[in-house]
Amino acid sequence: MRKIERNEPCPCGSGVKFKKCCAPALEGMTWPDTAEALMRSRYSAFVVGNTAHLYRTTHPENDQVKGISPEQFAQDTLQFCKAINFTKLTIHQVWPEDEHGIARVHFTTEYEAGEKQDTMSELSEFARLNGRWVYTQGEESAHQG
Ligand SMILES: [Zn+2]
Repeated sequence: MRKIERNEPCPCGSGVKFKKCCAPALEGMTWPDTAEALMRSRYSAFVVGNTAHLYRTTHPENDQVKGISPEQFAQDTLQFCKAINFTKLTIHQVWPEDEHGIARVHFTTEYEAGEKQDTMSELSEFARLNGRWVYTQGEESAHQG
């Protein structure tokens, strides 16, 4: 976890300043209008430790939030964010909304955990809840990009 100034490049790697990319969504001012934009904003939220954004963009039926109070989620997630410094996001492929309303994003993150550097790849699924994209579930994948 690290602090990102509003004029710095967005941590999601878009090439756009943080304030013109993920920051408005993290501040709750806007809601990302595509699954990819939502995924990017969630990655940025992990970078800066914005647990409120992660909570509100996770589907209520997802195990990470179901039956868990926002306070407990914030506490656990902040602990995770403090232990991990995400350094790079690579999006491999985006599948637009299918006939069931599911969109998918396959990505790899690079991160540091203490002295250790590693990568994590995931195929994430997103759906609309009351018209807004949310994260429904993810599956770790072996693909390293
Ligand atoms: Zn961004």
